[in-house]
Amino acid sequence: MNIDQIRQRLRSLGAGPGHEQRALRLWTQAKPQNSGKQALESFMPKPLREALPALEAELAGLAQLRSEHPGADGSARLLVGLNDGQTVETVLLPREGVCVSSQVGCAVGCVFCMTGRDGLIRQVGSAEIVAQVVLARSMRPVRKVVFMGMGEPAHNLDNVCDAIQLLGQEGGIGHKSLVFSTVGDERVFERLPQGRVKPALALSLHTTKPELRRELLPRAPAIDPAELVAQAERYARATGYPVQYQWTLIEGVNDGDDELDAIVHLIKGHYAIMNMIPYNAVDGLGWRRPSTERTTEIFRSLNQRGVLTRLRQSAGQDVEAGCGQLRAREALGRGARRGVVSIVAAAPGQSGDVAALAAAASAE
Ligand code: SF4
Repeated sequence: MNIDQIRQRLRSLGAGPGHEQRALRLWTQAKPQNSGKQALESFMPKPLREALPALEAELAGLAQLRSEHPGADGSARLLVGLNDGQTVETVLLPREGVCVSSQVGCAVGCVFCMTGRDGLIRQVGSAEIVAQVVLARSMRPVRKVVFMGMGEPAHNLDNVCDAIQLLGQEGGIGHKSLVFSTVGDERVFERLPQGRVKPALALSLHTTKPELRRELLPRAPAIDPAELVAQAERYARATGYPVQYQWTLIEGVNDGDDELDAIVHLIKGHYAIMNMIPYNAVDGLGWRRPSTERTTEIFRSLNQRGVLTRLRQSAGQDVEAGCGQLRAREALGRGARRGVVSIVAAAPGQSGDVAALAAAASAE
């Protein structure tokens, strides 16, 4: 379901612009439709009033909690059921953030990501994206929404942008606290500046080398990393929000001194934050994170050389649930793992890549 369909439904029930805005505001803020001191009878058409409970139930069914997996860092990974039986991962982040999924599966096929292995299953509708935020808000306060879950938001641009506009206009989320995460796509750089709500930008760079990037992110647009950085810098200057670069650190792949030199060359002096996220090992994939010593050296070196760098961990990695593993385990019927506190229902489905979550949880 998408947000336009909800608007159409409300209008067909006699909602005027004020009623429509009120209904969407209450929904996105996870408040009941009968909130407020004024009796609904005093300002709402009868057909709309009578249809509200059913509509509320339908909206609640868009994103249902199947299981919750708390991490020691204050995050909690949620396996969320959509109303056709598919599932996505939504992650409650420390400091009142939530990470949402924009696709079931993903077509980019990053070689280090579990989600990318099965390709794209389907798009997540704009209302389903917002519903993940509403579900999170029913569990915790939410002031920040990052689009870093399963899927590439650029491949579902209309739905993601519609969700961003609604969350920024009615959902009470600050515009710079909406973080659009992408591997880099021309359509993103054209589209984001046009919205009334302009989100912050997170760019998954992972390497400065064009050929290596094509290997690691095989179906990402073949844009030179230097060009991506130039485009991102323009957007950052236009919006006033720094670019949040994401770099999944993989031992022997993109943790060399040559990469550090190139990062300094490309990003020093830019309005940007580099988030280094040591790779979170995934069953069946052969990649490893660099040693703690090497990771610390990278962090120190980049900061000393003028690139504002943070070291981050993938949220909830202590529950062995990084990068699509929740869904994979659920699909395999192996949900009862360390850290799983409640399995509400088991169904085949998907989960998300959240390698950069913790970075987004606190980046401004
Ligand atoms: S890392 Fe992100 S863009 Fe790459 S395959 Fe996984 S979900 Fe898709």
